[in-house]
Amino acid sequence: MSQKTIGLIGGMSWESSSVYYKIINQEVKKALGGVHSCQSLLYSVDFEDIAALQYKGDWNQLAARMVEAATTLEKAGASCIVLCTNTMHKLADNIEDAVTIPFLHIADATAEAIKNHNLKKVGLLGTKFTMEQDFLKQRLFDNHSIETIVPNEKGREVVHNIIYNELVKGIVTEESRQAYLSVIADLMAQGAEGIILGCTEIGLLITPEHTDVTLFDTTEIHAKKAVDWYLK
Ligand code: GLU
Repeated sequence: MSQKTIGLIGGMSWESSSVYYKIINQEVKKALGGVHSCQSLLYSVDFEDIAALQYKGDWNQLAARMVEAATTLEKAGASCIVLCTNTMHKLADNIEDAVTIPFLHIADATAEAIKNHNLKKVGLLGTKFTMEQDFLKQRLFDNHSIETIVPNEKGREVVHNIIYNELVKGIVTEESRQAYLSVIADLMAQGAEGIILGCTEIGLLITPEHTDVTLFDTTEIHAKKAVDWYLK
């Protein structure tokens, strides 16, 4: 049995943390059988505080919070760090610098999945932070030669507001699903070959049963990547 311990930093809403937790345990059980489950530690936060700091743009304070979470996990015995949110990967360097254990970057896992489909240009949905800033897009381009396109301003507004007003609270509506599908259709019309669900709560709303478009659900991809690492 693996001696490793996956260290999870929540997503940052517990809605996505719980999906990660479920997937990693299901995948370990699938691979090892019996009553196997994944040895893990979860550092879960109060998302109200985090969201307030994000809106204030206080990334220094958020970096301190992420470093605190990661170092706590390392001290507690984690053998890697899995940060269950795209947005907070803005602070990936701060985390990597603060720990000695591997940090499994969500963009690298996602890029691998995109390359397995031989795609070069994809649409990116996520929070405004993720869609408008460079931290994820640039890494996909520089390290993996994957080009991303994002929705127009109105589309970004819609996608972002549904995440913060609904999905992080576990609210899933058909109206919001249709709004997302329309944004996805626009991105495909602009030449996207697939769509990154680049926020770890979007999988609550959109799954392959809702569209024929090739989807890259960062939650599923990242959680499965963590399990590959755990079992190796
Ligand atoms: N889970 C989200 C993401 O993947 C947004 C919530 C957060 O800021 O952590 O970007």
